[in-house]
Amino acid sequence: MASLRDKFYGFFSNDVGIDLGTANTLVYLRGKGIVVNEPSVVAINKKTNQVVAVGAEAKQMLGRTPGHLSALRPLVEGVVSDFEATEEMLSYLIKRAQGVSKKALGPRAVLGVPSGVTDVETRAVRDAALNAGAREVYIIEEPMAAALGIRLPVREAMGSMIVDIGGGNTDIAILSLGGIVRSKNVRIAGDKLNQDIIGHVRSEFKILIGEKTAEAVKHSIGSLLPASSSLEALVRGRDLVTGLPREVVLTDSDIREAISQSIDTLIEGVREVLETTPPEILSDIGRGGIYLVGGGALLRGLDSLLSEWSKVPVHVADDPLTAVVRGTGVVLENLDEHRNLLIEHEEDVE
Ligand code: ADP
Ligand code: MG
Repeated sequence: MASLRDKFYGFFSNDVGIDLGTANTLVYLRGKGIVVNEPSVVAINKKTNQVVAVGAEAKQMLGRTPGHLSALRPLVEGVVSDFEATEEMLSYLIKRAQGVSKKALGPRAVLGVPSGVTDVETRAVRDAALNAGAREVYIIEEPMAAALGIRLPVREAMGSMIVDIGGGNTDIAILSLGGIVRSKNVRIAGDKLNQDIIGHVRSEFKILIGEKTAEAVKHSIGSLLPASSSLEALVRGRDLVTGLPREVVLTDSDIREAISQSIDTLIEGVREVLETTPPEILSDIGRGGIYLVGGGALLRGLDSLLSEWSKVPVHVADDPLTAVVRGTGVVLENLDEHRNLLIEHEEDVE
């Protein structure tokens, strides 16, 4: 039950839940739902140090900026890499989430961090949010947020397993009784697969393609299981011999070959976590299955491949890209009840 205090604040609040991801940042506004969903990219004018664009607009600029502009991704492998840019991005997106209802008092903010990050990394997220205008910051581990977001029974004496495949990292975690029992963070995720595709096209076809192109073909024809008829996509890049533009047709099997080693490493990570999971919980997971969240969950055939290998049912969560932010929303709507699922809250710090 929401306490009276929570209800009171809920009515007037501009509190936000934030999934600060390497690839995408989403904001949940209390009482409203998800109001911001943008790529985690910031474009900065290097002469004036001013932010010129955030999100989709800034992503369009990646790899296309003239000398005085810089488009960058402030998070790398799930953690803050450029502190100031992270702060600017959060500040802009929090303001946009609040729109006209922005209050003088800063919002309370629930933010996710990957499981097992260091105190320093957690502090960077907290400080960025405080500098961006939040008045209180609450931190939750992302697999816990994702599990809440997809309504798994995280508090019960019943194990569940989340595999969150994002842009910079894959978070593999086992949850039970309101806590994380085992977890492992692997640096193989969407960005690495894009790099694999770039490397493969370069070595097989002697063409250099850009990162956005690689990501686009991954989405359009990437599949871990051979389709009945082959999928094809035309990509353009620079011919490494002539230096001029050239086109090539890629198939799903090219993509499969490109990413196979990374996928093996990812599966190995899942295996390692399962291997050290206590037997009662393992038996729960054998029954309930593994839940895939994050954008990488949408990679065709990943669920079948994982399930074939692990002999455990694998479910792609509904709307996997929003699982974590929905979880921060669940916490936000009822902070008192969910306080004990957080790894840090205001009282710990002051
Ligand atoms: P993060 O939490 O790190 O911001 P997300 O959960 O938002 O990451 O997922 C972003 C990643 O998911 C990107 O690398 C993107 O390429 C990948 N992705 C999104 N859709 C698909 C798809 N249909 N197939 C494969 N990968 C996808
Ligand atoms: Mg994520």
